[in-house]
Amino acid sequence: MSGKASAAFTEAYGDEPTGLWAAPGRVNLIGEHTDYNDGFVLPFALPQRTVAAVAPSPDGTWSVCSTLAPEPVTFGVTEPGEVTGWGAYVAGVVWALRDAGFEPPAVRIALASDVPLGAGLSSSAALESAVLTALIDLGGLDVPLERRPAIAQRAENLYVGAPTGILDQSASIRCEAGQALFLDCRSYAIEQIPFDLAAAGLAILVINSNAPHQHVDGEYGARRKSCEESAAILGVPALRDIDVTGLAAALERLGDEVLRKRTRHIVTENQRVLDTVALLRAGSVREIGPLLTASHTSMRDDFEITVAQVDVAVETALAAGAYGARMTGGGFGGCVLALVDDDRAEATADAVASAYAERGFDAPTSWVAVAGPGAARLNRL
Ligand code: ADP
Ligand code: MG
Repeated sequence: MSGKASAAFTEAYGDEPTGLWAAPGRVNLIGEHTDYNDGFVLPFALPQRTVAAVAPSPDGTWSVCSTLAPEPVTFGVTEPGEVTGWGAYVAGVVWALRDAGFEPPAVRIALASDVPLGAGLSSSAALESAVLTALIDLGGLDVPLERRPAIAQRAENLYVGAPTGILDQSASIRCEAGQALFLDCRSYAIEQIPFDLAAAGLAILVINSNAPHQHVDGEYGARRKSCEESAAILGVPALRDIDVTGLAAALERLGDEVLRKRTRHIVTENQRVLDTVALLRAGSVREIGPLLTASHTSMRDDFEITVAQVDVAVETALAAGAYGARMTGGGFGGCVLALVDDDRAEATADAVASAYAERGFDAPTSWVAVAGPGAARLNRL
């Protein structure tokens, strides 16, 4: 991706970039829709990443182009709403940095990425995090690492207008190679959890269902609203404040069946994250499989965010011998991850591809994902 970003920079601006910054997409091992409930998540960074080739701008404006949109978008200091389309992700980062009291340098940017767009692997956070890190480094801005995810999240929430939680940006910025990131979405406390699957003879197979996303934004908003409603009825700041020991009593107080299901997912999912972390800390990697599968069942039956393609991928992977499998990401399409013996990854991917072909679904795309590094400068040209 570095070569592509540099070439795109030269093509668009007729000059060389000063430097290259990269930020990864992510998969969430477990903890789905828990982030906006102040709960727990456990993502790791993908090897796929977005690279930003960047140089100071000659005229005090910001310009950005992408291999996907080669014509540069140029803007000055803006407020939310002024830059629309994909350029809003970049204008949003500039705005959010200024809003937080920093002076980001005016730059030209060219982006190249191999994170699939709109597949639930967080290409949006990869883009924001690469740009944010470049602006901080080039401008010599004193923005501590722990503040960065919230700045990128504000860009996406308030400038782009997408109401996402803190998971994606935290993962892209704070993940480390060979580790999963245990994040408390209330305190933003993190812990790096060793996640060396190869040493255990295991692999995480990521299966992109390539299912068309439908109603994603509306359904996401509806889930958030249900969770907020439940928390309000239960008199707690967020569903994070209900734990599994209090679940039965809480469900009794929620008359509405939909609210009960949504609440049960969040409460049990938070516990599954904690249980997964405990197992990984103890070096029991294979044993997390049933928790992954239970998470999927909960997303399918209680949170109701899966579609046929992801359910078939999970069922097929399990039938092919996976220790556990679940949809990862916000839902309504996107990707599935399966925990498999490393020598079974290919056979599992083939089994899912056959099951898709039999049902007439678009072909899936599968790969083994190894936990990679978070956002960083790549080199000094
Ligand atoms: P996800 O984050 O799951 O991939 P989103 O809908 O949150 O899906 O973000 C995808 C959007 O991010 C794209 O529609 C596009 O606007 C923007 N985007 C991401 N990567 C790039 C890129 N390399 N070039 C241009 N736009 C990008
Ligand atoms: Mg996104």
